[in-house]
Amino acid sequence: YAQDFGLTTNRFEKISKKTITDKNSIIVRDNAKCILCGDCVRACDEIQTVAAIDFAYRGFEAQVVPSFEEKLENTECVFCGQCVAYCPTGALAIRNDVDKVYKAIEEGKYVIGMIAPAVRASLQEEFGMEDDIAMAGRMVSILKMIGFKKVFDVAFAADLVAYEEAHEFMERLENGEKLPQFTSCCPGWVKFAEQYYPEYLPNLSSVKSPQMALGAIIKKYYAREIGVNPEDIVLVSIMPCTAKKFEAEREEFEGDIDIVLTTRELVKIFKATGIDIKMVEPESFDRPYGLSSQSGLSFGKTGGVLGSVVKVIEDKVNVKSVNTREIAQGVNLTEVELENGKVVRGVAVFGLGNVRKVISDIKEGRLNADVVEVMACNYGCIGGGGQPYPNDVRTR
Ligand code: SF4
Repeated sequence: YAQDFGLTTNRFEKISKKTITDKNSIIVRDNAKCILCGDCVRACDEIQTVAAIDFAYRGFEAQVVPSFEEKLENTECVFCGQCVAYCPTGALAIRNDVDKVYKAIEEGKYVIGMIAPAVRASLQEEFGMEDDIAMAGRMVSILKMIGFKKVFDVAFAADLVAYEEAHEFMERLENGEKLPQFTSCCPGWVKFAEQYYPEYLPNLSSVKSPQMALGAIIKKYYAREIGVNPEDIVLVSIMPCTAKKFEAEREEFEGDIDIVLTTRELVKIFKATGIDIKMVEPESFDRPYGLSSQSGLSFGKTGGVLGSVVKVIEDKVNVKSVNTREIAQGVNLTEVELENGKVVRGVAVFGLGNVRKVISDIKEGRLNADVVEVMACNYGCIGGGGQPYPNDVRTR
C-alpha cells in the first residue's frame, strides 16, 4: 500500500547537502530592524544548537562570513523558525506566500487545501474562542468561501504514516537492523540529521511526513480519480511549521505540494476576509481524506507520533503494559512490554539541543532506545515557528 500510493521515500539513505534547494529565502531578514538584542542567537545557537545565526559570524564559513551578510539558506539553518518567534522587532520574518494563493484562485486553478492538526488549536486561541471543537469546520467553511474547491485533513495522512512507520519498525525489530528507528516527519530534524548525524540517515523511517504523503496521494491518485489534470491542481498545505515550506521545495518531492502557508499566514487571510469566524457555520472536511483517529490528531504535539506507533503495535501484537515517564527535560521514555516479555523502548524528544544529548547518550550506551520520535520545536509542532506568537514573547 505504502509504495503504491507513494507514501515512502528512499531519499534518507542517499541525501547530501547538494540536493537541498536554494530557492527564495524562507526566513527573511531585514537588518535595518535588528536591535542586536541577541534573542535569535539564543534561540538558534543555545536552544537549537544549530549556529546558523551568531553575534559576529554565521554559517558554514564562519571564519570569513561577516554577520548579517549571509543568506540563511547558505548556513546550517534548519528553517525551524524559532528565531522568528523570538525576534521582538520583525528583523526576522517568514516568507509570505499568501498572494500565491489569491493568484491561483483568480486564475481558476483547482485549489485544494489541507490542514495540519496543530493549526486548529492555535487558531482558536488567536480568535479568542473558548474551544476548538468546531474550529476545523469553520476553517473549512471560510476556505470554501474564498474559493478552495476541497479541504482535507492532514490528520488522515498522519494515521497512514503512523501505520506504515509501525510496520517498518516491527520489521526492523524482527531483523535487528537500522535501529533505533528515528521518525522522519519533522523536516527541521531531517535537515539537522543530514548536517550533523549523517551516520544515522539509514535509521530514519522511510515513510514520508504526513504533508508529503497526502501531497503524493492527492497529486498522483486523487487527481486521476476526479479527472483533473494534476497540473491544474494547486495544493495548499496549511502548517504550524516554517520548515514545511522548505520540505515542500526539496527536489525529491517533485512539487507535490505547491504552496505552504503557516498558521500566521492563514490568520492574515481570515482577517482580510472580514468574516467573523465565530459566526461561521462549520463544514466537514471533504471525503475521502477527511477522517482521522485521535492518534492522527495527536501528531501536533510531542510524543504524538510515538504514541500513534505504539497504538498500532498494540493492535498488531499482544502488549502487557505501556508506561511513559519523563527522563530529562524535553525527553520522554515509553516502555512497551510485549507478551513474550520483550520490552520495546521508545523515546520522544523535542528541541534540537535535547536531541544532541539523546543521540550522545545512545551512542555512548547511556540510553537504550528502539524507536526515537524527534520534533525540532518546543513541545512539537504546537510550538512551531509558523504559529501565532506567544503573548509573552512578542510585543508587536
Ligand atoms: Fe515543523 Fe513540527 Fe518539526 Fe517544528 S517540530 S520544525 S513545527 S515539523
